[in-house]
Amino acid sequence: MAGHGLVPAIPHRVAHRAGGEGTAGEHADESVGRDPSRRDASHDVVDGAGPCTGRRHRRHHAERHASHTAAVERFTAELRELCAIPCEASDKKALDSAARWCRERLRAAGFTDARELRADGAPALVVGQAGAGQRTLIAVQHYDVQPAVPLELWKTPPYEPAVRDGAMYARGVDDNKGHLLLRIQAIEAHRAVYGELPIRVRFLIEGEEESGSPNLAKLLALEPDLTGGEGALKEGGAIDSQGRPLLSLGGKGILYCHFHVRTMSRDAHSGGATHYPNAAMRLAQAFASLMDATGRVLIEGFYADVRKPTAAEREMLERMPFDAQATKDVVGIERFAFGRTDDEAKRASVFEPTCNVCGIEGGYNGPGSKTVIPREASGKIDFRLVPDQDPDKIATLLRAHLDRSGFGDVEFSAEEGEHPYRGPADAPLVRAVAAVAEEAFGKPPVLVPSSGGTSPMWVVCNARRMANVTLGMGHPGAGAHAPNEHILMENYWRALRATARLYSAFASQE
Ligand SMILES: [Zn+2]
Repeated sequence: MAGHGLVPAIPHRVAHRAGGEGTAGEHADESVGRDPSRRDASHDVVDGAGPCTGRRHRRHHAERHASHTAAVERFTAELRELCAIPCEASDKKALDSAARWCRERLRAAGFTDARELRADGAPALVVGQAGAGQRTLIAVQHYDVQPAVPLELWKTPPYEPAVRDGAMYARGVDDNKGHLLLRIQAIEAHRAVYGELPIRVRFLIEGEEESGSPNLAKLLALEPDLTGGEGALKEGGAIDSQGRPLLSLGGKGILYCHFHVRTMSRDAHSGGATHYPNAAMRLAQAFASLMDATGRVLIEGFYADVRKPTAAEREMLERMPFDAQATKDVVGIERFAFGRTDDEAKRASVFEPTCNVCGIEGGYNGPGSKTVIPREASGKIDFRLVPDQDPDKIATLLRAHLDRSGFGDVEFSAEEGEHPYRGPADAPLVRAVAAVAEEAFGKPPVLVPSSGGTSPMWVVCNARRMANVTLGMGHPGAGAHAPNEHILMENYWRALRATARLYSAFASQE
């Protein structure tokens, strides 16, 4: 029921005009003939049951209301079912059943070739394609989720999806299962309202996104045609606190490094600190050598490949809202790090790479005191990268920096590397998404050249410099990766409606 009456309907003329575009119209009736129940159901999810006041409309309204309820119930039940699968990286069985679930759901939506690709025991990449036309839209999604711990902070168990006050709570309901599923359901909704798909839509649904997609390139290489297309729908998507759709056109890359240093064969009495080397201090000094007080990374060559933002991207940044006060309040600070002004912080969040110590450990940190010289220390750093930095190259530069700076004994392994990707803003897909998002959410969208997070868009899009964009429904308090992750069902139906519309709009968008 969420969404009914709350969501402004797409005006009928929009739906029917779209139905008449190209070949969509002729097939619309076929689809009705084949499966009338499905048609009615999906039709009303997309179309919304608008105000229907006339007396002769009353019966029609009651029927539509019933079928609308049926569609809402079926789609909601599917979302609960998918979110109940605990597919964290450590649970291979759950990953397998989620992959199977996605494959079957694609088949049910008419993706007759839906299948699972496998390599080296990695979770399956589920792929499938439907529709016909000049253009191909690639939906790059994932079914794996972040660990749900700490469980005691959840109001209801993470894998027992619960609906409260128009919101659904479950691990993964925002990132990325809700988004993944509504993009499939939108295919059915599209067929019901606008007719057959006037484009090819190809799903690539991986099971290792939350672990840095280590096998995605290998899996895609099994069938090189999988990355051929005219645009990509990226995972996720959000609206801001004012209800404006945020369309992200890129993401930062990442290099994640595990450090280790060992200075002695055993810990020693701190009386020997005059002549015994301390591993914790050694690692702290190595880390300190990486960045200066203004946040500039000191690794030689680190910035060499950083692409200058275009004029259009700088303009996008200008128009992008950035609530500096709220950004400070949420973590209780008065000033941003590195002496950055509000404007500098906003710019850096989009265009600057980072060097961030995630953790450091060594020696004695228990209760009371222990006078000891630790023999070993370890730590972790993530570098968020911007186009066109290359994680492998940055790892090589990091090694050279440590050696040159006298830290040859500080070892590290680069465990996770993903390229950044920032696609073009001047592309038919971006214009089509902006139009359908505004139509469904009632507010002009905000274009974000790059979000701070990382998605595996480079492996899919870079060879053709393909446009990529989000069209989603997450809200500012959704809690992705955190306890009590949830979505507002009203936004779910809006995003579903926008996505169904997109499948037609993108076909003819210039
Ligand atoms: Zn995700």
